[in-house]
Amino acid sequence: MLDHFQKTLLKKITFKGIGLHSGLTSEVKILPAAENYGIVFKRTDINENNIIKASFENVSSAKLCTTLENKFNVAVSTVEHLLAALYITGVDNALIEINNSEVPIMDGSSKEFVETISNVGLKDLNAKRKYLKIIKRFEFKENEKSISIDPNTGSLLVDFQLVYSNEIIGKQRNKINFSDRNLENVYSSRTFCLFEDIEKIKRIGLAKGGSLENAVVVKNNSIVNAEGLRNSKEFVNHKILDLAGDFLLSGYRILGSVKCDQGGHSLTNLFLRDIFKDQSNFIIT
Ligand SMILES: [Zn+2]
Repeated sequence: MLDHFQKTLLKKITFKGIGLHSGLTSEVKILPAAENYGIVFKRTDINENNIIKASFENVSSAKLCTTLENKFNVAVSTVEHLLAALYITGVDNALIEINNSEVPIMDGSSKEFVETISNVGLKDLNAKRKYLKIIKRFEFKENEKSISIDPNTGSLLVDFQLVYSNEIIGKQRNKINFSDRNLENVYSSRTFCLFEDIEKIKRIGLAKGGSLENAVVVKNNSIVNAEGLRNSKEFVNHKILDLAGDFLLSGYRILGSVKCDQGGHSLTNLFLRDIFKDQSNFIIT
């Protein structure tokens, strides 16, 4: 069943933690907002031009994480896991105040965001929720990566495959229906990286806040984290989580069957930009 009305939080919630890439600590406050407000970030450490709308058009970088930036070059990064939590819990409208440039990584997944939002609860607003319903097949390819979407009867279905030469990650594929009641395997799946990539990522100035507390690290044919994996398809489930967060940047809940092969933040963003170029791809209902 699709929700008929837009939703927001019943009351303000707060998170605090370190940013995965910047290593900076920040505090995030998610405040209830009125119908048709959308998801909006506000940098409270900056006095003016500090509003950044969560829109695919404001994505300024999609390298390893999704960064949003307004026309005054005020940015907020690693927004995808928080957005995925808003997607999964059903929040349509919220003002997200943040006192630094990067959303805290928490445990590398959306678990804490989802659980806190669920505990606080949501309320229906007076306006109808808007859905973007795909009405004709649309595909986007970039080298070996591809993403397509087909019309369906009314939910977001994601069939994702990732391919790594590393034998632990390997070729992992999963299909998720976002209308399912229990999406814990998606929202609790953590971000991951290969041990041999850590130095490379750090050399380009990223992953300064990365640790075994907030990422799964794979070294050759073993998991470095003592606790192991949270579910048998944690790697691909995390990619599906990322996709849900990035899809919320469309401004709508998207209804269609997605098939993605080796995609990521950049491919998803290019895909959204392309879909909106041709209005015959969808209807807003
Ligand atoms: Zn992620």
